[in-house]
Amino acid sequence: MKSFSYFMPTKILCGKDVIINNADLLKSFGKKAFIITGKASSKKNGSLKDLTKALEKQNIEYVIFDEVEENPSMEMVEKAASIGKSEKVDFIIGLGGGSSLDSAKGIGVLIKNKEAKKEDLFLAKKLESIEVIAIPTTAGTGSEVTQYAIFTDHRSKTKKGFSHSVFPKIAFLDAKYLMSTPDSVTINTGVDALSHLIEGYLTINASVLSDALSKEGMALFSECREAFLKREFTYEIREKLILMSTIAGMVIAESGTSLPHGMGYALTYFHNIPHGKANGLLLKEYLSFCEDKKKVNNILEILNMKDLDEFGGFLKELLGSFKGVNEKEINEYTETMINNKAKLKNHPFEVKREDILNIYKNSLM
Ligand code: NAP
Ligand code: FE
Repeated sequence: MKSFSYFMPTKILCGKDVIINNADLLKSFGKKAFIITGKASSKKNGSLKDLTKALEKQNIEYVIFDEVEENPSMEMVEKAASIGKSEKVDFIIGLGGGSSLDSAKGIGVLIKNKEAKKEDLFLAKKLESIEVIAIPTTAGTGSEVTQYAIFTDHRSKTKKGFSHSVFPKIAFLDAKYLMSTPDSVTINTGVDALSHLIEGYLTINASVLSDALSKEGMALFSECREAFLKREFTYEIREKLILMSTIAGMVIAESGTSLPHGMGYALTYFHNIPHGKANGLLLKEYLSFCEDKKKVNNILEILNMKDLDEFGGFLKELLGSFKGVNEKEINEYTETMINNKAKLKNHPFEVKREDILNIYKNSLM
């Protein structure tokens, strides 16, 4: 058997009213919390109210930063960190989708390292963060159990993973916050989680343990297949989705992501395509390119798909297609991807320029 290591330092608590029921756990993190969230959704879905109630119950002061945007920028992270420093917060709570959770990690690093600037999010030397707690309200990124955070870097015109490693101390999962999620967000984020499971399963870093998690996550996705097609997301389905997405996060925490994630960033940066959809548009052609046919067949079997065409048709029905890219752009994105050595090294075999080009072309033209 291939040797492997497995590390998951995040305490995961899952269930209805999990924040209120475990409010006492917040006490050990300090006297003042910094809540990092988006502009609107956490106010509407009740999660911000539950969180502030839990903090008040424990006599913990809090400051709210609610300006997290989708595809968070380094500038926004720096702005929030300067507020956190002047407010002398002790710990951070990221509340919302992956954008809020990722921002919480970046802000935590800039608060802990007083002199650090936004550029230091990508510093070669690893920096620590003040403690972060994560409460996801999308079932997609798994950021609540990963060490990663992705920020938009306008200088290199792409999105990049920061260079530090910040695992949240606790992840609180409560499916009730997902009940009012628009179908488009549920679908895009669900496909992001599916990409994590599939890419993680096919990376060079996959192990017997991460494979076990990938398979369980894909089985959960398969149980939600009809719900996706009918756009009927009951509480029971939402529970499965949030669990699947956290499991998928546990997979990529170990394995990293691969070609669809690396290639999808250009579609998000230049065409504003949501992250999960960007991965999903490339997923079928990626699977048809992957050399390990045995593993590809396992994926299809678990997802209950007879072949790649059925899988592609399913994704198309969920996501629609996107044909707004021309050949010149595809060449440019291919160039960027072929220089993304960090992502390419996750693929078990050598990837040629032509392989990337073909995946883009077959998916988008
Ligand atoms: P998101 O960008 O966090 O949020 C997308 C939209 O959904 C926002 O408009 C948000 O509104 C809304 N929303 C969030 N929760 C909602 C709810 N419960 N009900 C209704 N609307 C809700 O989306 P995401 O897909 O979760 O995160 C994507 C980001 O995560 C990308 O930047 C991606 O690169 C990154 N990512 C990170 C990892 C990792 O391991 N760290 C892995 C994959 C992807 P508000 O703004 O009002 O809250
Ligand atoms: Fe992702």
